[in-house]
Amino acid sequence: MEQTIQQKSAIDLWSSKRPLIISGPCSAETEEQVVQTAVRLANTGKVDMLRAGIWKPRTRPGSFEGIGTKGLPWLQQAKKITGLPLTVEVATGKQVEDALHFDVDVLWIGARTTVNPFSVQEVADALRGAGVPVLIKNPINPDLELWTGAVERVAKAGINNIGLIHRGFSSYGNTEYRNAPMWHLAIEMKRRNPDLIMINDPSHICGRRDILLDVAQKAIDLDFDGLMIESHIDPDKAWSDAKQQITPEKLADMLGTIIWRKEDINSEAFHAALEKLRQQINHLDDELLQLLGQRMKIADKIGEFKRNNGITILQTNRWNEILERAFRKGEALGLSNEFITKYFDAVHMESINHQNKVMNS
Ligand code: PEP
Ligand code: MN
Repeated sequence: MEQTIQQKSAIDLWSSKRPLIISGPCSAETEEQVVQTAVRLANTGKVDMLRAGIWKPRTRPGSFEGIGTKGLPWLQQAKKITGLPLTVEVATGKQVEDALHFDVDVLWIGARTTVNPFSVQEVADALRGAGVPVLIKNPINPDLELWTGAVERVAKAGINNIGLIHRGFSSYGNTEYRNAPMWHLAIEMKRRNPDLIMINDPSHICGRRDILLDVAQKAIDLDFDGLMIESHIDPDKAWSDAKQQITPEKLADMLGTIIWRKEDINSEAFHAALEKLRQQINHLDDELLQLLGQRMKIADKIGEFKRNNGITILQTNRWNEILERAFRKGEALGLSNEFITKYFDAVHMESINHQNKVMNS
């Protein structure tokens, strides 16, 4: 006997379910794979929407480029059985029409499409009057203006529910991640668009399973609204992105391991304690600025001294000595080499500018 499953409303989940968890295979491969993945994800009780790539934008030709429109009825079937709303990537006007025809609830624009204003405009034109929520992945290159442009084109087409997906940025010779997260860019995009939901996609950032949890935890700590994570019933045999997919049960374990923090709580004692710590930070920041001002005054003096003796501003040995000293001291203080390098680069540049002014005055 067929059970009637309560279909969940995508709009309700979109507006009020936090964290919003989206999962499903990188690509729809066969009807059985789609339906089984959906059933096992639904059984975890931890997933809100089902994702699957129908048209796959692959870096190199000859890889699996997606099952195409014939996979859409499989998704409909999965939705009927599990009640999970569907989300699919669209990159052309025809794909938008097909997805809507098969009742896909939420559409997403992929990273390779966001980079191309022609494609985004074509998708936006096809979306006019559709009323579906649309998620927009960051462009593959670290360019917030392109991401913003895509949001504007979709908004101009009358789409009111727009969300962002942070999936990392491509960078040459990058080793740890498939796509470097560059968290500061996602944070800045969130700051500029406080009304848009922001979802993190650890799968495409990591490109491998073993660091998914770290990235997901970090996104939750940064108050993202949800996660999109790829899941496959037999990850090693997946037709695309095999290395980064996990089984529905592994996904459930992972979601169970994440520490879910709240952005705010209503306790006076908590706010008072936080305020006190923030005052301490402000106080220390003031002192650091005072000290930096003093440091630059000394740089001015050195500038004068060098000018009077006719020697160059930059002396490489001295710079190496400063950095090595700082690495050693920083390590004992729990400061990473990466931070020390960035901090001293900035301080050094400011010092050079000061000396330059003095020497050429
Ligand atoms: C995907 O989600 O499977 C995908 C192709 O992602 P991206 O656009 O982030 O590369
Ligand atoms: Mn993928």
